[in-house]
Amino acid sequence: MFRKGIATELWWLMVYLCVALAIGFMLGAVWPALFLGALVYLGWILYQIQQLEKWVTVVRVNGLRDHKLRGIWGEVAEDIELMIKRADKGKHRLQQVVARVQDMTSALTDGVIIVDNDDNIEWCNRSAERQFDFEPQDIGRKLTNYIRHPTFVSYYDSDEYEEPLDLPSKHHEGEFLQFHIHRFGEGDRLVIVRDITRVANLERMRKDFVANVSHELRTPLTVLGGYLETMVDAADNLPPTWARALDQMRDQTKRMTSLITDLLTLSRLETEDRQTGQEPVSLRPLIEQIIADAKVLSGDHQHVFNVDCEPSIQLVGQENELRSAFANLVYNAVNYTPDGREISVDVELTPLQLIVKIKDNGNGIEPRHLPRLTERFYRIDEGRSRESGGTGLGLSIVKHILMRHDAELRIRSKMHKGSTFSCHFPLKRFTNSSVEQVHS
Ligand code: ADP
Repeated sequence: MFRKGIATELWWLMVYLCVALAIGFMLGAVWPALFLGALVYLGWILYQIQQLEKWVTVVRVNGLRDHKLRGIWGEVAEDIELMIKRADKGKHRLQQVVARVQDMTSALTDGVIIVDNDDNIEWCNRSAERQFDFEPQDIGRKLTNYIRHPTFVSYYDSDEYEEPLDLPSKHHEGEFLQFHIHRFGEGDRLVIVRDITRVANLERMRKDFVANVSHELRTPLTVLGGYLETMVDAADNLPPTWARALDQMRDQTKRMTSLITDLLTLSRLETEDRQTGQEPVSLRPLIEQIIADAKVLSGDHQHVFNVDCEPSIQLVGQENELRSAFANLVYNAVNYTPDGREISVDVELTPLQLIVKIKDNGNGIEPRHLPRLTERFYRIDEGRSRESGGTGLGLSIVKHILMRHDAELRIRSKMHKGSTFSCHFPLKRFTNSSVEQVHS
């Protein structure tokens, strides 16, 4: 029923009491003898406790040691010994796992950095050490002291990590890095840094190639277009088949010229510094000008145009780019909306956003096309697009321009009801007067 130590202890207690009783009877003082016996026994227990405590202290400081404890105290010491041995075993196993994981992550070519909930570097693998020139003493310091790129700092602070972030390396010239951040544990972060130099270089080569080809094609096409224009004007004396051929050649040259112009616009948008030429642009006159041009484009199609925009609203950006983006959306509405229907441009101010909505009540777009509309050369009806002089690059250009203005394009459409293309600009893009207006 009892453990052996307790049984021994009880046995010794009985022996003490019997001896004390016997002495008490002999001396005729039972109670004092019992009291004295209990005191001696208590002293013995206190001594054993003190020995146990001493042994525990030594074990804590120097690791496991032999002991001379007896009875229940010896058993307690053995239990402690067992627990320590088990914990050591567990610790050793855990250390082996950690070492293995570290070996594994060290073998990765991707940089891996663990950041604690105070944003300090807790651990990093060898690739990360190389990517950011980390030294051992950098462990425990703030990550953003080492990766200081403002775009990275705002990405890190934003807590929105669905999309990775691509940046040129500040530590190694010519290298491009892609950052993925994942949250784990209690506010810790895992930062994975991939070297995308090769992909970035290929992408740059692709952009350069498109830009160069477009640039080289522009001059011969201008010459061809010029001669064809002259020949069409002087085609009265030619047989009808020749005149038709010349017409077609002129149209196709025009189409190619539009394509080249759009491609050059796209490559300029991809490469040019987005900070230059930023100024407050009054939206109302800009939109009115676009609507005036759209009326000319609409011609006999008798579209009805509406504009709703407060005269004082100003947007900070590059005027030409903003004009190009809104004009693309309005001209698309003209091109893809049946005759006589309504096209409107509404500018809405919310406390956090400025939204420019280009709405038409045309035939609408099937939902399956919506996610792909801003891809280059994506057209729902190629014939229709070609007929209207479209290149399939318009919405791609709009998306790029909006990105350069920290804005976003959202497309909603209902079949047979119409489509709405809305450009959402963040608060930092309005001038003071429009912000005051929002809050007033
Ligand atoms: P495109 O030069 O062909 O107009 P865009 O990139 O501007 O190219 O547009 C892509 C496709 O999106 C168009 O071909 C057209 O099918 C569709 N689209 C764009 N705007 C509208 C609209 N307002 N209504 C219906 N379809 C549209």
